[in-house]
Amino acid sequence: MKTYRARLFTPVADPFASPGAISASYRYEDDGYVTIGDDGRFHAAGAWSSSVSNAVTLGRNRLIVPGFIDTHIHAPQLEMIGSYGGHLLEWLNRYTFPTEAKFRDPAHAGIIARAFYDEVLRNGTLTALIFSTIHQQATEIFFEEAERRGFRGIIGKAMMDRNAPEFLLEKPRDSYEQSRALLVKWHKRGLLRYAISPRFAPTSTPELLDAAGSLKQEFPDAYVHTHISENLNEVRWVQQLFAEAEYADVYDDYGLLDERTVLAHGVHLSAEELDLISRRRTRISHCPNSNLFLGSGLFPLRRVLDAHVIVGLGSDIGAGTTPSMFTAMADAYKVQQVQGVSLSPFHLWYLATLGGVHALSLDGETGSIEEGKSADFVVLDLHATPLLSMRSDRASSIEDLLAGLIFMGDDRTVAQAFVAGREVWRRATTSP
Ligand SMILES: [Zn+2]
Repeated sequence: MKTYRARLFTPVADPFASPGAISASYRYEDDGYVTIGDDGRFHAAGAWSSSVSNAVTLGRNRLIVPGFIDTHIHAPQLEMIGSYGGHLLEWLNRYTFPTEAKFRDPAHAGIIARAFYDEVLRNGTLTALIFSTIHQQATEIFFEEAERRGFRGIIGKAMMDRNAPEFLLEKPRDSYEQSRALLVKWHKRGLLRYAISPRFAPTSTPELLDAAGSLKQEFPDAYVHTHISENLNEVRWVQQLFAEAEYADVYDDYGLLDERTVLAHGVHLSAEELDLISRRRTRISHCPNSNLFLGSGLFPLRRVLDAHVIVGLGSDIGAGTTPSMFTAMADAYKVQQVQGVSLSPFHLWYLATLGGVHALSLDGETGSIEEGKSADFVVLDLHATPLLSMRSDRASSIEDLLAGLIFMGDDRTVAQAFVAGREVWRRATTSP
C-alpha cells in the first residue's frame, strides 16, 4: 500500500450529459489523498483525514489528476512535427510518406519508439491509440517499447495498398497476414491492445478493406482505427474512388464500424453519416490542434454530441504540433469558441481523461481516480514555471485553477506519472 497526499481532482461522470450535470461530474479535494494497493489499483481516494497513515506528502503545490488519454496519435511522425505548408493530401505526400518509409529500418524505429514514449509520458499521457507504419517489425518495436515502459497502448500496423508511393504499398494478403500475426501476439497482452488500422479509405482498395473486415470478424474485440472526413478534398476523393453513398458507408460496408472503432477527425460528416456512426456506436477522435495546423476545418462538437456519438480528444502528431493534452484541451476550447460554444474546464478535462476512456471502451479500467480502477495518475506541479505559479496562486476556485493549467500547462507541469501504481515518469527537477 502507498498513499500520496496533495490536492486531488478527477472527473467521475459526463458533464455533457445534461446542463445541470457539471457539479456532479467531478470530485475535488483541496487537501486530498490517494491510496494504491499492491495490485496497482486505487484502494481509496478522498479528503485527507488524520486517520490515514503513512502518506507521502506532496504538498499544496501538487495536484493529483488522472493520466491523460490520447485517442489518436501517429508515433512514427514524431520527428516531422511542424512540417508546414499544404493541406492534408499535399502534406501526406510531401512529408508523411517519406518519413514513414524510414521505418523499414528497425534501428530507426527503435530510436523513434524510445523518443516517442519519453515524449508522451513527459506530457502525462498514459494511454493512447497509436498508428504505426505499414512495417510489421517497426510495429513490433512500438509494442515492445510500450510494454517495457508500462504504457497502456492500443497500437496497429497501418494497412495501405494504393495512392501512396510504391515503397509504402503492400498486397492485401500480406497486410492481412502481418496484421493478424501482430494481433495474435499483442492483443490483450498486459496493458496492450491491437487496432486493425487501414490508414484511410483513399489508400485502401476494396480488397484491402475486405481483408481488414475479415480480421475484425475473426477478432471482434480488436479495435479498428482509421481516419474519416478530415478535409473536403479528401471527402470528394473518396466519393470518386468508391461506389458507396458516403464516406462512412465505405467503412460500414466492410464491417469496420462498431463500438471498438475510432475514427479520427470527422470534421465534415453529413447528418446521415453521423446517424450511421451513432447507430454503430462508433467513436470519433477530435484532434483540434491538427485540424488547425492543416487547415482542415472546425469540428462541430455540438452537432456530433447531439447525434449521440462518443468523442475523445487526440493530439494527432505529426499534424498536431505537440503530444501535450493541455494543448489539445486549449485548442478544443478555441475551436468551439469561434463557433459560439464555450466549454468549461470540466468539459475539457473530461474529454482528455474519462471521455477518452469511454471513446476507447476502457470504462472501469482507467481515466478517473476511483476505487478499483488502475492507479494511472499524474502529479501536476502548480508552480512549474514562474508564470504558472502566479496564475495558480491567484486561482479563485478549482474551475479557475484548471483553466490556468489548460492554457498554460505543458510538459514542465508534469512532475510525476504513474501507471498501475508504478512510477513511469519523473521530471528531473521540480519546484518545491
Ligand atoms: Zn491521423
